[in-house]
Amino acid sequence: MDQFILALDQGTTSSRAIVFDKGGNIAAMAQHDFPQHYPRPGWVEHDPYDIWNSERTAAAEAIAGMAPGAIAGIGVTNQRETTILWDKNTGEPVYNAIVWQCRRTAELCEELKKEGLDERIQSTTGLLIDAYFSATKIRWILDNVPGVRQRAEKGEILFGTVETWLIWQLTGAHVTDVSNASRTMLFDIHRLCWDDELCGMLRIPHSILPRPVGNSEIYGYVKEGIPGLESLAGVPVCGAAGDQQSALFGQACFTAGQAKNTYGTGCFTLMNVGAAPVRSRAGLVCSVGWQVGGSTTYALEGSVFNGGSTIQWLRDEMGIIDSAPQINDLAAKVADTNGVVVVPAFTGLGAPYWDMYARGAVLGITRGTNRNHLARAVLQCIAFQVTDLMMAMRMDAGCDISTLKVDGGASVSDILLQMQADLLRINVDRPAMVETTAFGAAALAGLSCGLWKDLDEIAALRRSDAVFQPRRVQADTDAEYRLWKRAVGRAGDWIEH
Ligand code: ADP
Repeated sequence: MDQFILALDQGTTSSRAIVFDKGGNIAAMAQHDFPQHYPRPGWVEHDPYDIWNSERTAAAEAIAGMAPGAIAGIGVTNQRETTILWDKNTGEPVYNAIVWQCRRTAELCEELKKEGLDERIQSTTGLLIDAYFSATKIRWILDNVPGVRQRAEKGEILFGTVETWLIWQLTGAHVTDVSNASRTMLFDIHRLCWDDELCGMLRIPHSILPRPVGNSEIYGYVKEGIPGLESLAGVPVCGAAGDQQSALFGQACFTAGQAKNTYGTGCFTLMNVGAAPVRSRAGLVCSVGWQVGGSTTYALEGSVFNGGSTIQWLRDEMGIIDSAPQINDLAAKVADTNGVVVVPAFTGLGAPYWDMYARGAVLGITRGTNRNHLARAVLQCIAFQVTDLMMAMRMDAGCDISTLKVDGGASVSDILLQMQADLLRINVDRPAMVETTAFGAAALAGLSCGLWKDLDEIAALRRSDAVFQPRRVQADTDAEYRLWKRAVGRAGDWIEH
């Protein structure tokens, strides 16, 4: 009988389930959105039951009509850092999930910085102190939800990020894969275990933490009688990774120097740096990419706050385009930006600048500047920012970047990807199958349940839709990149503080 893998892709705004066949093709897919809660400015929450029920329903729909026994294994990938605490005995969450975007613990993070914990935290966890990561979210729930700390100290409370919550619902196991664990700010990425001293400093009891596990092994078997998933009872849940690491794996970036970028609302660049963690000097973070078959691969990661959102700005606020795809039509009408540079520092600048006081700028405007130039400059500023990240990674890792594999909504733009190849002077490779995040989880699960035998077999499943090669003269693109750097300098430290 044909065998399939079910990937559960639990994202920030929707839960998806995709069934992959042995050829790595999509056999079935379902998706459910779920509510976002914003109880105060800057706070973001999800109901943990919405997360589980939307994922469960999507899975039930995706496997409807499949023969019993067709699913050989299940892989999970998820929005990272989002924090859930629940009662070990009743399963009842003690509070909503605090979502990665939530800034409620920013002040606590400032205190940790003042206490001088930056170095201690970066050297062990690979992360910079920030409210993104789970640690201060856990601490907030323990400190602010009545009775939870006492119950936690009695061993009655469990913590999990989203993969932990889903695997617990599916199988009853309380585990976290090491890629997700390395986004908590409590995990020692060198020794692959919880950092007890750090947990102590943050007053987080060890008893609530899940057991760290590899990314491709059996965590448990689906329980009997889960509504809609009855036919999956006994199927192993046998692969998991945080969404970005999963996409790196799904893009088959298996060797050091291979990188992927997701061109979404923001951009997420990850680079495989090999078997040892890298200490970033440029404000990037280092996480476990995956642990497969006993060997660990690390990844450097950087993100751009405003990528595709700059295209949305051009559409929604400036009214220069009616739809996102139209940006390509305008940009194609001109050969260059005519010297215009857009710096989309709407919310400040992240890596490698880390300037919260920068604001957006459009520079180099002349009397001849038109909307086509501006459209082209918007695409170019996305490519510039990803170039910044990749340059920083090259410096940090001390290794050359061989290829950039791409995905995400804006990666359909040929003009953008050609600009990227010209700036980086490497090939930029867009896959035919764009569900790379879900495929990563499927690949991890398929490896451990024997559907695929090794990484080579998985890499062979990936097909390119297009490979963009550097075409322009390097001196020209270098000059443009220098102009970008000057423009960033002008936009920097803009608002008064
Ligand atoms: P996210 O998952 O972050 O919400 P997506 O991966 O769906 O984002 O990507 C959405 C982004 O893709 C939008 O910001 C939009 O501007 C951009 N986009 C969509 N279609 C195109 C296109 N044809 N050309 C360029 N950009 C596009």
